[in-house]
Amino acid sequence: MLKQKIKKQPSCADDYDSESISVESARQKILEKISPIDATEKLTLSKSLNRVLAQDIVSKLNVPGHANSAMDGYALSGDDLPDSLTREYRVIGTAYAGRPFEYQNKRDKCQAGECVRIMTGAAMPAGTDTVVMQEQCEKINDTTIQLASGHRKGQNVRMAGEDIAEGSIVLTQRHQIRPADLGVMASIGIAEVCVYRQPRIAFFSTGDELRPIGEPLATGEIYDSNRYSLHGMLSQLNVEFIDLGVVSDNLEDLREAFKTACSKADLVITTGGVSVGEADFVKNIVEELGKIHIWKIAMKPGRPLSFGEIDNAVFIGLPGNPVAVMTTFYQFVVPAIQQLSGQGARLPLTFEVLCDSGLKKRPGRFEYLRGILSRNESGQLTVCATGKQGSGILTSMSQANCFILLDEHCDGINIGDFVTVQPFNLSL
Ligand code: AMP
Ligand code: MG
Repeated sequence: MLKQKIKKQPSCADDYDSESISVESARQKILEKISPIDATEKLTLSKSLNRVLAQDIVSKLNVPGHANSAMDGYALSGDDLPDSLTREYRVIGTAYAGRPFEYQNKRDKCQAGECVRIMTGAAMPAGTDTVVMQEQCEKINDTTIQLASGHRKGQNVRMAGEDIAEGSIVLTQRHQIRPADLGVMASIGIAEVCVYRQPRIAFFSTGDELRPIGEPLATGEIYDSNRYSLHGMLSQLNVEFIDLGVVSDNLEDLREAFKTACSKADLVITTGGVSVGEADFVKNIVEELGKIHIWKIAMKPGRPLSFGEIDNAVFIGLPGNPVAVMTTFYQFVVPAIQQLSGQGARLPLTFEVLCDSGLKKRPGRFEYLRGILSRNESGQLTVCATGKQGSGILTSMSQANCFILLDEHCDGINIGDFVTVQPFNLSL
């Protein structure tokens, strides 16, 4: 009997696919098409955390404003320090932080054989440039101290402007404001900052089988989990977002959902409905309303990804499988949002660690396995894979704190090999 063969199409089970593109080239194609938001707003300093500066911040002040003491001790002229042996000094007064020592006559200054008791942060009195910490002074009585040799002119003094010089640029436009930056800006008296408007993101899930939580499930139906993972990941970014719910696989509902989404948002994210399944209407609707590219990405999980534009909004269609949604979000959506927000896309942080698991892999695709980074008994950082790695095993994402990245050429990892990891939700 003749052996019959069927003609196979490329599928997501293949390792090599000549039509697929790499993660890096998909990321580049996305970034090339996204322009940063240029609308700005003014915010009070404490509201500006994580926002992206739309201006350079220039200091009108020196910080510190005056040379001041870094220690509690005694201020004197460095030229008057003892060379050898010990020497006594007369204490002529006290300088406190915020309450400088005032000479009776404004033109007076500390003379040879004199010193001023000084507290940390107090401005250096005229005629002094050196502080000896109190633990290194011998107090003879309330008005006399004794010093030994071994001190250095200028010690324990913070110079005016040594942190920030008047007129210097402290933070540059497009910098994302971090906690220390709030402190730095406060230190130069900045009360309001001009920042870019936050990106607005609209998202919805597609699929007839999806039910929102809170409703009973009929046979074959599942709860929509993707919107909740998206909600979580978006909440950790500096964006406004609009959840448009579950949209069933039909042209009319999808058309309405896309129209609403792109009228409200800079970026529209969907999950599901973009593969070669028969009920995949997303492609038709986006084609009708704008432009769409559907890419097969040489990655696992997350092969199908679509990208396009509708009016002024950018569209990213993530796969349906819950793990693929999260994996592609971190690889493509996070840089896209960074680019929109004005700070510019940064590559996700990766580093190498020892692998505690043997990992099977065939060359061909870039794999993102779910991993747990931890410290072993000797304190060394190691990673092991979370058990089952299927793209529907969402619990693997909740157990994991990083992806283990295995590149196209990798053909497996032995215990004790080094692997690259990309952390998320990290607290070790
Ligand atoms: P699709 O890309 O629409 O063919 O979906 C691929 C797989 O992901 C199917 O098993 C879907 O049931 C599942 N899926 C799609 N969307 C969701 C969602 N929002 N929540 C949970 N699973 C989903
Ligand atoms: Mg579907």
